[in-house]
Amino acid sequence: MAVQDHDAYWHPGLETQSRADWRKLQLDLLKDHLRHAYEGSPYYRAAFDAQRVSPGDLHTLDDLRRFPFLDKATIRDRQVAVPPFGDLVAVPEREIVYISASSGSTGVPTASPFTAKDFEEWIDYEARQFWSSGLRPTDRYAHALNFSLFVGGPCVLGAQKLGALSIHAGTLPSERLLAILNQFKATALWTTPSYAWHLGETAQSEGIDPARDLGVRRLFVAGEPGGSIPETRERIEALWGAEVYDYYGLSDIFGSCAGMCVEKDGLHWAEDHILVEVLDPETLEPVAEGARGELVLTTLRKRARPIIRFRTGDVVSVTTEPCRCGRTSLRLKGVHGRLDDMLIVKGVNLFPGDVEAVVRQDPALTGEYRLVLDRVERLDRLTVEAEHTQGFNGDLEDLRGRLRRQLKAATGVGAEVALLAPGTLPRAVHKAKRIDDRRQHVWS
Ligand SMILES: [Zn+2]
Repeated sequence: MAVQDHDAYWHPGLETQSRADWRKLQLDLLKDHLRHAYEGSPYYRAAFDAQRVSPGDLHTLDDLRRFPFLDKATIRDRQVAVPPFGDLVAVPEREIVYISASSGSTGVPTASPFTAKDFEEWIDYEARQFWSSGLRPTDRYAHALNFSLFVGGPCVLGAQKLGALSIHAGTLPSERLLAILNQFKATALWTTPSYAWHLGETAQSEGIDPARDLGVRRLFVAGEPGGSIPETRERIEALWGAEVYDYYGLSDIFGSCAGMCVEKDGLHWAEDHILVEVLDPETLEPVAEGARGELVLTTLRKRARPIIRFRTGDVVSVTTEPCRCGRTSLRLKGVHGRLDDMLIVKGVNLFPGDVEAVVRQDPALTGEYRLVLDRVERLDRLTVEAEHTQGFNGDLEDLRGRLRRQLKAATGVGAEVALLAPGTLPRAVHKAKRIDDRRQHVWS
């Protein structure tokens, strides 16, 4: 049931419109956007021509399936071929006012360009998303993400546009960030989930109880699946005495394209900016709503560099069921992991997040974990390494057996469990490295 409280929404009419109105809006925007891409970008013109489709062939949203896919390697290759920004760009360079850049795993940075209007619309979206997560002009908001070329940096301007006092903290040593949170009495903070965890633990080691001694009551997290894993979120919430909201962003499009509202029941998507497809990564056909598939994205307004049918490599599930907040946009129910991180263990698809959910629900464990894979006599062996807590005084064998049973029940994979002393596993400062796959070394 829609809540008719206008203070609850940034753009009430848009955010609570019917699903049919969302689809109509998307179709109108998409028709215009495909035409813009075709006319402005040599890459898209050639790619559409090669597939024998043209923007005039799009009559329904389903018709988008006739258009070619795009992947990260192509974005990078076209940028190398046509420097400096590649021929996916669909506007003259004088219209570009901002670029973010991401290096990714190959080390070649790719730039994501924005026109002035793209940038303004993006920041307005960030304000809308912050508003949906309960941020208000009375808040003091600390933005503790990297500002150096990173698309997450300017998201702080969304909080500022909304009217919150905005602290452009950036990435600082933990001790210094804690001092700033304390000095300026920040009420809200954005970091990665593993850093939120690390920062909370650092505070505790200095005798500061984040829940009692600091005023942070809203934590926004992004960059790792942890924020959508309830067990992880709840433990960060308990550590900080704060509500944790998961956000999802993509360096090639927006700093954040989806985020949790105060109901924390999935991540509302920026559907007036980006069209979502969820496809079976093998057949490339749409999966049923709610099923896991690869997230494929198409921008609807970004003029500088349209992104059409971009295969993100992220495995997600989505819903269009109504949300208790009254917003009607599609929601990500979960980002289950990266296709690259998807392990196939004994023939079963497994994500680190599946293991995380188990490890973080047991109060006898610190919540840190690592998956070690090797092969013994041609068979996969998965060992889950986890740490017992400092104060644990139960039977380690019992704990090991319990964890093994819970992992089997949750993932369908039989795993060995190695229990380690607290503090043994490396603490992740940014993106946590959770997998040590030694299988390829065994046979090479
Ligand atoms: Zn909602």
